[in-house]
Amino acid sequence: MSKILNDFLTSQLNGLKEQGLYNEINVVTGPNGPKINIEGNDLINLSSNNYLGLATHEKLKEVAKQAIDSHGVGSGAVRTINGTLDLHVELENKLAEFKGTEAAVAFQSGFNCNMAAIQAIMNKEDAILSDELNHASIIDGCRLSRAKIIRVKHSDMDDLRMKAKEAVESGNYNKVMYITDGVFSMDGDVALLPEIVEIAKEFDLITYVDDAHGSGVMGKGAGTVKHFGLEKEIDIQMGTLSKAIGVVGGYVAGTQELIDYLTVAARPFLFSTSLTPADTRAIIEAVQTLMDSTELHDKLWENGDYLKKGLKELGFNIGNSETPITPCIIGEEKLTQEFSKRLMEEGVYAKSIVFPTVPRGTGRVRNMPTAAHTKEMLDEALKIYEKVGKELGVIS
Ligand SMILES: *Cc1c(COP(=O)(O)O)cnc(C)c1O
Repeated sequence: MSKILNDFLTSQLNGLKEQGLYNEINVVTGPNGPKINIEGNDLINLSSNNYLGLATHEKLKEVAKQAIDSHGVGSGAVRTINGTLDLHVELENKLAEFKGTEAAVAFQSGFNCNMAAIQAIMNKEDAILSDELNHASIIDGCRLSRAKIIRVKHSDMDDLRMKAKEAVESGNYNKVMYITDGVFSMDGDVALLPEIVEIAKEFDLITYVDDAHGSGVMGKGAGTVKHFGLEKEIDIQMGTLSKAIGVVGGYVAGTQELIDYLTVAARPFLFSTSLTPADTRAIIEAVQTLMDSTELHDKLWENGDYLKKGLKELGFNIGNSETPITPCIIGEEKLTQEFSKRLMEEGVYAKSIVFPTVPRGTGRVRNMPTAAHTKEMLDEALKIYEKVGKELGVIS
């Protein structure tokens, strides 16, 4: 092994461990449901993005198996050669209907969807105004595009207006985009889309909303853009199929021309093999389930409200979430990790999230209640939170 590489890896790993920033990976045995098994212990799971419980849904499992029988396990090629199966087309039509747009295109993951779409649309003659709390995949997509990246203070409309004006009036850029998460996953707050649309109109900004945590959750399931009734105003809606939808993949929804362009310019569409038949079929079923009924969506919100109320009554700082995402803000990194570790020993799996995912000193244990949790599970979790909170002096 290269000595230089070896020294680099050792010093990086030691540095992270000393600062309490090294993340230990937990292996889940069996399904990722409202309870999970880790190293032989059954734990109440408050850390997955499986908002609606669809990851283990019986009907989805059944149709996925049927798709393996009818189409095989792999799609065989990239979309532009012969990896576009009838299932992919059916999925994309369904997604467009769900999102209220002319068309949609699916990708292999949400992460690669952002890299694909941002890079395809923006280039080095352009500028991207980007909310400072945007997801890593947006940041990487922006970097890949080689556009000028202008960080905008989190949900600060005055800062956005000022920077948009400056960028547009400078005459330095061909196109200017504003890109934001629909729902911010670390705090559970929602982008101010009506104000954003106003500012975008004023300065002719391209608008791009990453609704990874909004789809299935906001707008009766159809997402944050639909929640505000802005389907015709937001240029590019991106979403993931890996969170509320419960499977894997990502998509962009928008005009037919936008989608036509992405199918010739988005690199992961051109150079990476398409979604498997089983995944694709399961996603179609998931989207249909959301379109048919708001039952799972309603249950998710009921559970989210219940957990928030319980934690607040115990005296925890749960921030200002507007969605079922429930952060429990502890502060210091090491204490946050200790808190999460003690929860796990007592039977609750709620992962700590610390710098660099969130700013230093705002370490938190983030709770993701789902439609699949029962009241008993949530009550049990609250009891454990109370015990650990008192033990570590986080609540009195
Ligand atoms: C999770 C997430 C992604 C990535 O989606 P995957 O399908 O998991 O790759 C992109 N953007 C945001 C805001 C996310 O939260």
